[in-house]
Amino acid sequence: MTDNIRDTVILGSGCSGLTAAIYAARANLKPLVIEGHEPGGQLSITTLVENFPGWPEGIQGPQLIENMKQQAARFGAEFRMGHLVSADLSKHPFTLRVGSDTIHTRTLIIASGASARWLGLPSEQALIGHGVSSCATCDGFFFSGKEIAVVGGGDSAMEEALFLTRFATKVTLVHRSEQFRASRIMLERAIAHPKIEFLSNARIEEVLGVEEKEVHGIRVRDTVTGTESTLPISGLFLGIGHEPNAKMFAGQIDLDEDGYVKTHDQVFTRVPGVFACGDVQDRRYRQAITAAGSGCMAALEVEKYLEEHGH
Ligand code: NDP
Repeated sequence: MTDNIRDTVILGSGCSGLTAAIYAARANLKPLVIEGHEPGGQLSITTLVENFPGWPEGIQGPQLIENMKQQAARFGAEFRMGHLVSADLSKHPFTLRVGSDTIHTRTLIIASGASARWLGLPSEQALIGHGVSSCATCDGFFFSGKEIAVVGGGDSAMEEALFLTRFATKVTLVHRSEQFRASRIMLERAIAHPKIEFLSNARIEEVLGVEEKEVHGIRVRDTVTGTESTLPISGLFLGIGHEPNAKMFAGQIDLDEDGYVKTHDQVFTRVPGVFACGDVQDRRYRQAITAAGSGCMAALEVEKYLEEHGH
Protein backbone atom coordinates (compact mmCIF):
# COMPACT_ATOMS: atom_id res chain seq x y z
CA MET A 1 0.00 0.00 0.00
CA THR A 2 2.72 2.45 1.06
CA ASP A 3 4.40 2.18 -2.32
CA ASN A 4 1.23 3.34 -4.04
CA ILE A 5 0.86 6.51 -2.03
CA ARG A 6 1.92 9.62 -3.86
CA ASP A 7 3.58 12.53 -2.10
CA THR A 8 1.48 15.05 -3.94
CA VAL A 9 -1.22 15.29 -6.57
CA ILE A 10 -1.97 18.56 -8.34
CA LEU A 11 -5.45 19.07 -9.62
CA GLY A 12 -5.40 21.35 -12.66
CA SER A 13 -2.92 22.16 -15.39
CA GLY A 14 -3.27 25.93 -15.72
CA CYS A 15 -0.72 28.49 -14.67
CA SER A 16 -0.96 27.79 -10.93
CA GLY A 17 -1.02 23.99 -11.22
CA LEU A 18 1.95 23.92 -13.57
CA THR A 19 3.99 26.29 -11.41
CA ALA A 20 3.21 24.08 -8.41
CA ALA A 21 4.32 21.11 -10.55
CA ILE A 22 7.65 22.76 -11.42
CA TYR A 23 8.41 23.45 -7.76
CA ALA A 24 7.19 20.08 -6.48
CA ALA A 25 9.09 18.23 -9.21
CA ARG A 26 12.31 20.10 -8.44
CA ALA A 27 11.82 19.09 -4.80
CA ASN A 28 11.80 15.49 -6.07
CA LEU A 29 8.20 14.86 -5.06
CA LYS A 30 7.27 13.39 -8.47
CA PRO A 31 3.96 15.25 -8.59
CA LEU A 32 1.07 13.83 -10.57
CA VAL A 33 -0.83 16.54 -12.44
CA ILE A 34 -4.45 15.76 -13.25
CA GLU A 35 -5.08 17.87 -16.32
CA GLY A 36 -8.81 18.43 -15.84
CA HIS A 37 -11.69 19.47 -18.09
CA GLU A 38 -9.81 22.35 -19.71
CA PRO A 39 -6.14 21.32 -19.98
CA GLY A 40 -3.91 24.36 -19.74
CA GLY A 41 -6.66 26.42 -18.11
CA GLN A 42 -7.70 29.86 -19.20
CA LEU A 43 -4.32 30.79 -20.70
CA SER A 44 -4.73 28.04 -23.25
CA ILE A 45 -7.68 29.87 -24.77
CA THR A 46 -6.13 33.33 -24.85
CA THR A 47 -3.92 34.82 -27.50
CA LEU A 48 -1.11 37.23 -26.67
CA VAL A 49 -0.15 37.56 -22.99
CA GLU A 50 1.63 40.87 -22.64
CA ASN A 51 1.93 41.18 -18.89
CA PHE A 52 3.76 38.03 -17.89
CA PRO A 53 7.20 39.21 -16.74
CA GLY A 54 10.11 38.02 -18.79
CA TRP A 55 8.47 38.26 -22.23
CA PRO A 56 9.10 41.81 -23.43
CA GLU A 57 7.32 41.16 -26.74
CA GLY A 58 4.54 39.13 -25.09
CA ILE A 59 3.95 35.41 -25.51
CA GLN A 60 0.99 33.42 -26.82
CA GLY A 61 -1.00 31.92 -23.92
CA PRO A 62 -0.89 28.33 -25.24
CA GLN A 63 2.88 28.62 -25.77
CA LEU A 64 3.40 29.91 -22.23
CA ILE A 65 1.44 26.92 -20.90
CA GLU A 66 3.36 24.48 -23.11
CA ASN A 67 6.66 25.93 -21.85
CA MET A 68 5.56 25.50 -18.24
CA LYS A 69 4.46 21.93 -18.90
CA GLN A 70 7.78 21.03 -20.47
CA GLN A 71 9.62 22.68 -17.60
CA ALA A 72 7.66 20.61 -15.05
CA ALA A 73 8.07 17.38 -17.06
CA ARG A 74 11.81 17.95 -17.30
CA PHE A 75 12.05 17.66 -13.52
CA GLY A 76 9.87 14.56 -13.31
CA ALA A 77 6.27 15.76 -13.08
CA GLU A 78 3.78 13.25 -14.47
CA PHE A 79 0.62 14.21 -16.33
CA ARG A 80 -2.65 12.40 -16.57
CA MET A 81 -5.61 13.37 -18.72
CA GLY A 82 -9.00 13.24 -17.06
CA HIS A 83 -10.75 14.89 -14.19
CA LEU A 84 -11.58 14.20 -10.61
CA VAL A 85 -14.71 12.11 -10.09
CA SER A 86 -14.63 12.13 -6.29
CA ALA A 87 -12.29 12.85 -3.40
CA ASP A 88 -12.19 11.65 0.17
CA LEU A 89 -10.24 14.15 2.23
CA SER A 90 -11.55 12.87 5.57
CA LYS A 91 -8.60 10.57 6.26
CA HIS A 92 -4.93 10.33 5.42
CA PRO A 93 -3.79 9.44 2.87
CA PHE A 94 -6.44 11.14 0.76
CA THR A 95 -8.26 9.08 -1.83
CA LEU A 96 -9.00 10.48 -5.28
CA ARG A 97 -10.95 8.87 -8.07
CA VAL A 98 -9.88 9.96 -11.52
CA GLY A 99 -11.70 8.14 -14.29
CA SER A 100 -11.65 4.52 -13.19
CA ASP A 101 -8.38 4.90 -11.23
CA THR A 102 -8.06 5.29 -7.49
CA ILE A 103 -5.14 7.40 -6.36
CA HIS A 104 -3.84 7.75 -2.79
CA THR A 105 -1.86 10.83 -1.89
CA ARG A 106 -0.38 12.43 1.21
CA THR A 107 -1.05 15.95 -0.02
CA LEU A 108 -3.30 17.61 -2.56
CA ILE A 109 -2.92 20.91 -4.38
CA ILE A 110 -6.22 22.17 -5.72
CA ALA A 111 -5.46 24.32 -8.76
CA SER A 112 -8.66 23.63 -10.67
CA GLY A 113 -9.23 27.26 -11.66
CA ALA A 114 -12.43 28.95 -12.70
CA SER A 115 -14.53 28.54 -15.83
CA ALA A 116 -16.56 31.11 -17.72
CA ARG A 117 -20.17 31.39 -16.59
CA TRP A 118 -22.94 30.82 -19.16
CA LEU A 119 -26.52 32.06 -19.22
CA GLY A 120 -27.73 28.48 -19.37
CA LEU A 121 -30.12 28.93 -22.30
CA PRO A 122 -30.41 25.89 -24.61
CA SER A 123 -30.05 28.18 -27.66
CA GLU A 124 -26.87 29.69 -26.19
CA GLN A 125 -25.36 26.25 -25.60
CA ALA A 126 -26.31 25.10 -29.10
CA LEU A 127 -24.55 28.09 -30.66
CA ILE A 128 -21.25 28.01 -28.78
CA GLY A 129 -18.61 28.29 -31.48
CA HIS A 130 -21.24 29.46 -33.99
CA GLY A 131 -21.42 33.05 -32.84
CA VAL A 132 -21.62 32.55 -29.06
CA SER A 133 -18.32 32.89 -27.24
CA SER A 134 -16.98 33.40 -23.72
CA CYS A 135 -13.59 34.62 -24.88
CA ALA A 136 -13.33 37.97 -26.63
CA THR A 137 -9.58 37.73 -27.05
CA CYS A 138 -9.91 34.31 -28.72
CA ASP A 139 -12.82 34.98 -31.04
CA GLY A 140 -13.13 38.76 -31.49
CA PHE A 141 -11.24 38.66 -34.75
CA PHE A 142 -14.02 36.62 -36.41
CA PHE A 143 -16.45 39.51 -35.99
CA SER A 144 -14.63 42.14 -38.00
CA GLY A 145 -17.11 44.52 -39.55
CA LYS A 146 -20.10 42.97 -37.73
CA GLU A 147 -22.53 44.01 -35.01
CA ILE A 148 -22.29 42.06 -31.79
CA ALA A 149 -23.46 42.08 -28.17
CA VAL A 150 -21.74 41.52 -24.85
CA VAL A 151 -23.79 40.44 -21.85
CA GLY A 152 -22.87 41.46 -18.29
CA GLY A 153 -22.41 44.52 -16.13
CA GLY A 154 -19.05 43.94 -14.46
CA ASP A 155 -15.47 44.75 -15.41
CA SER A 156 -15.21 41.63 -17.57
CA ALA A 157 -18.12 42.78 -19.72
CA MET A 158 -16.71 46.32 -20.03
CA GLU A 159 -13.27 45.03 -20.88
CA GLU A 160 -14.67 42.65 -23.50
CA ALA A 161 -16.89 45.32 -25.02
CA LEU A 162 -14.00 47.76 -25.27
CA PHE A 163 -11.71 45.13 -26.73
CA LEU A 164 -14.32 44.04 -29.29
CA THR A 165 -14.68 47.58 -30.66
CA ARG A 166 -11.39 46.86 -32.46
CA PHE A 167 -13.26 44.48 -34.73
CA ALA A 168 -17.00 45.10 -34.56
CA THR A 169 -18.80 48.06 -36.08
CA LYS A 170 -21.13 48.21 -33.08
CA VAL A 171 -21.12 46.55 -29.65
CA THR A 172 -24.32 46.48 -27.61
CA LEU A 173 -23.76 45.91 -23.92
CA VAL A 174 -26.77 44.00 -22.61
CA HIS A 175 -27.25 44.07 -18.84
CA ARG A 176 -30.12 42.76 -16.74
CA SER A 177 -30.36 45.84 -14.49
CA GLU A 178 -29.25 49.45 -14.27
CA GLN A 179 -26.79 48.76 -11.47
CA PHE A 180 -23.32 48.03 -12.73
CA ARG A 181 -20.68 46.16 -10.78
CA ALA A 182 -17.99 47.47 -13.07
CA SER A 183 -15.46 49.93 -11.69
CA ARG A 184 -16.27 53.53 -12.47
CA ILE A 185 -13.34 54.03 -14.77
CA MET A 186 -14.19 51.00 -16.93
CA LEU A 187 -17.87 51.90 -17.04
CA GLU A 188 -17.12 55.48 -18.04
CA ARG A 189 -14.74 54.33 -20.74
CA ALA A 190 -17.41 52.05 -22.18
CA ILE A 191 -20.12 54.74 -22.00
CA ALA A 192 -17.85 57.23 -23.75
CA HIS A 193 -16.95 54.86 -26.58
CA PRO A 194 -18.71 55.79 -29.83
CA LYS A 195 -19.10 52.15 -30.91
CA ILE A 196 -20.69 50.94 -27.64
CA GLU A 197 -24.40 51.18 -26.90
CA PHE A 198 -26.05 50.15 -23.65
CA LEU A 199 -29.19 48.06 -23.36
CA SER A 200 -30.03 47.97 -19.63
CA ASN A 201 -32.83 46.17 -17.80
CA ALA A 202 -32.67 43.57 -20.51
CA ARG A 203 -32.73 39.81 -19.98
CA ILE A 204 -31.71 37.60 -22.86
CA GLU A 205 -34.40 34.98 -23.43
CA GLU A 206 -33.10 33.31 -26.55
CA VAL A 207 -30.18 33.41 -28.93
CA LEU A 208 -31.55 33.30 -32.47
CA GLY A 209 -29.98 31.16 -35.18
CA VAL A 210 -30.10 27.60 -33.85
CA GLU A 211 -31.58 26.21 -37.06
CA GLU A 212 -29.19 28.13 -39.27
CA LYS A 213 -26.30 27.17 -36.94
CA GLU A 214 -25.25 30.82 -36.92
CA VAL A 215 -26.22 33.61 -34.55
CA HIS A 216 -28.33 36.30 -36.20
CA GLY A 217 -29.89 37.95 -33.16
CA ILE A 218 -31.06 37.79 -29.56
CA ARG A 219 -34.55 38.00 -28.12
CA VAL A 220 -34.54 40.17 -24.99
CA ARG A 221 -37.18 41.03 -22.43
CA ASP A 222 -37.29 44.38 -20.65
CA THR A 223 -37.16 43.51 -16.93
CA VAL A 224 -39.18 46.62 -16.01
CA THR A 225 -41.92 46.78 -18.67
CA GLY A 226 -41.94 43.10 -19.65
CA THR A 227 -41.90 43.95 -23.35
CA GLU A 228 -39.95 41.77 -25.76
CA SER A 229 -37.73 42.85 -28.60
CA THR A 230 -35.18 41.43 -31.01
CA LEU A 231 -31.68 42.73 -31.47
CA PRO A 232 -30.02 41.68 -34.72
CA ILE A 233 -26.40 40.69 -34.07
CA SER A 234 -23.85 38.26 -35.47
CA GLY A 235 -22.14 37.41 -32.23
CA LEU A 236 -22.84 37.18 -28.51
CA PHE A 237 -20.03 37.36 -25.99
CA LEU A 238 -20.50 36.27 -22.40
CA GLY A 239 -19.01 38.56 -19.78
CA ILE A 240 -20.95 37.45 -16.72
CA GLY A 241 -18.09 36.24 -14.59
CA HIS A 242 -16.48 32.96 -13.74
CA GLU A 243 -17.40 29.91 -11.72
CA PRO A 244 -14.71 28.40 -9.50
CA ASN A 245 -14.22 24.67 -10.10
CA ALA A 246 -14.49 23.53 -6.52
CA LYS A 247 -18.01 22.12 -6.17
CA MET A 248 -16.66 18.59 -5.78
CA PHE A 249 -15.03 19.63 -2.49
CA ALA A 250 -18.15 21.11 -0.89
CA GLY A 251 -18.50 19.87 2.68
CA GLN A 252 -14.87 18.73 2.88
CA ILE A 253 -13.08 22.08 2.73
CA ASP A 254 -14.55 25.55 3.23
CA LEU A 255 -15.97 27.36 0.20
CA ASP A 256 -17.25 30.95 0.25
CA GLU A 257 -20.76 32.00 -0.79
CA ASP A 258 -19.74 32.02 -4.48
CA GLY A 259 -17.99 28.67 -4.31
CA TYR A 260 -14.36 29.87 -4.14
CA VAL A 261 -12.07 27.83 -1.88
CA LYS A 262 -11.47 29.66 1.37
CA THR A 263 -7.79 29.75 2.24
CA HIS A 264 -5.85 31.17 5.15
CA ASP A 265 -2.18 32.18 5.06
CA GLN A 266 -2.40 32.30 1.25
CA VAL A 267 -2.81 28.64 0.30
CA PHE A 268 -3.91 26.62 3.35
CA THR A 269 -7.38 25.07 3.40
CA ARG A 270 -8.89 23.87 6.65
CA VAL A 271 -7.75 20.29 5.93
CA PRO A 272 -4.07 19.76 6.79
CA GLY A 273 -2.24 18.61 3.68
CA VAL A 274 -4.75 20.17 1.27
CA PHE A 275 -3.68 23.42 -0.36
CA ALA A 276 -5.39 25.61 -2.96
CA CYS A 277 -3.91 28.10 -5.40
CA GLY A 278 -4.81 30.16 -8.44
CA ASP A 279 -8.25 31.26 -9.59
CA VAL A 280 -10.11 28.59 -7.63
CA GLN A 281 -9.26 30.54 -4.48
CA ASP A 282 -8.57 34.02 -5.85
CA ARG A 283 -11.53 36.15 -6.84
CA ARG A 284 -9.59 39.36 -6.62
CA TYR A 285 -6.47 39.33 -8.78
CA ARG A 286 -7.04 36.47 -11.24
CA GLN A 287 -3.82 37.08 -13.15
CA ALA A 288 -1.46 34.55 -14.67
CA ILE A 289 1.40 35.84 -12.57
CA THR A 290 -0.53 35.79 -9.28
CA ALA A 291 -1.82 32.29 -10.08
CA ALA A 292 1.75 31.20 -10.75
CA GLY A 293 2.88 32.83 -7.51
CA SER A 294 0.31 31.05 -5.40
CA GLY A 295 1.12 27.75 -7.17
CA CYS A 296 4.70 28.19 -6.04
CA MET A 297 3.54 28.88 -2.47
CA ALA A 298 1.35 25.76 -2.44
CA ALA A 299 4.23 23.55 -3.58
CA LEU A 300 6.58 25.02 -0.97
CA GLU A 301 3.96 24.35 1.73
CA VAL A 302 3.54 20.77 0.50
CA GLU A 303 7.27 20.27 0.84
CA LYS A 304 7.23 21.68 4.35
CA TYR A 305 4.18 19.63 5.34
CA LEU A 306 5.74 16.36 4.12
CA GLU A 307 8.98 17.12 5.93
CA GLU A 308 7.13 17.91 9.17
CA HIS A 309 5.22 14.63 8.83
CA GLY A 310 8.39 12.61 8.36
CA HIS A 311 8.14 11.86 4.66
P1 NDP B 1 -18.68 40.33 -11.71
O1 NDP B 1 -19.20 39.32 -10.75
O2 NDP B 1 -18.09 41.56 -11.21
O3 NDP B 1 -19.88 40.75 -12.68
C1 NDP B 1 -20.69 39.81 -13.29
C2 NDP B 1 -21.77 40.55 -14.06
O4 NDP B 1 -22.51 39.61 -14.81
C3 NDP B 1 -22.74 41.30 -13.19
O5 NDP B 1 -23.09 42.51 -13.81
C4 NDP B 1 -23.94 40.35 -13.12
O6 NDP B 1 -25.17 41.02 -13.00
C5 NDP B 1 -23.89 39.71 -14.48
N1 NDP B 1 -24.47 38.38 -14.45
C6 NDP B 1 -24.12 37.32 -13.68
N2 NDP B 1 -24.87 36.24 -13.96
C7 NDP B 1 -25.74 36.64 -14.93
C8 NDP B 1 -26.77 35.98 -15.63
N3 NDP B 1 -27.07 34.70 -15.41
N4 NDP B 1 -27.47 36.70 -16.55
C9 NDP B 1 -27.17 37.99 -16.80
N5 NDP B 1 -26.19 38.68 -16.17
C10 NDP B 1 -25.49 38.00 -15.24
O7 NDP B 1 -17.69 39.49 -12.66
P2 NDP B 1 -16.51 40.02 -13.60
O8 NDP B 1 -16.01 38.83 -14.29
O9 NDP B 1 -16.96 41.15 -14.41
O10 NDP B 1 -15.40 40.53 -12.59
C11 NDP B 1 -14.86 39.66 -11.59
C12 NDP B 1 -13.71 40.37 -10.87
O11 NDP B 1 -12.61 40.54 -11.76
C13 NDP B 1 -14.10 41.76 -10.39
O12 NDP B 1 -13.47 41.99 -9.16
C14 NDP B 1 -13.53 42.66 -11.45
O13 NDP B 1 -13.25 43.95 -10.97
C15 NDP B 1 -12.27 41.92 -11.86
N6 NDP B 1 -11.90 42.25 -13.24
C16 NDP B 1 -11.07 43.30 -13.46
C17 NDP B 1 -10.72 43.68 -14.74
C18 NDP B 1 -9.82 44.85 -14.93
O14 NDP B 1 -9.59 45.57 -13.98
N7 NDP B 1 -9.28 45.05 -16.10
C19 NDP B 1 -11.22 42.96 -15.92
C20 NDP B 1 -12.11 41.88 -15.59
C21 NDP B 1 -12.44 41.57 -14.30
P3 NDP B 1 -25.73 41.49 -11.58
O15 NDP B 1 -24.91 42.67 -11.17
O16 NDP B 1 -27.15 41.83 -11.90
O17 NDP B 1 -25.60 40.33 -10.65
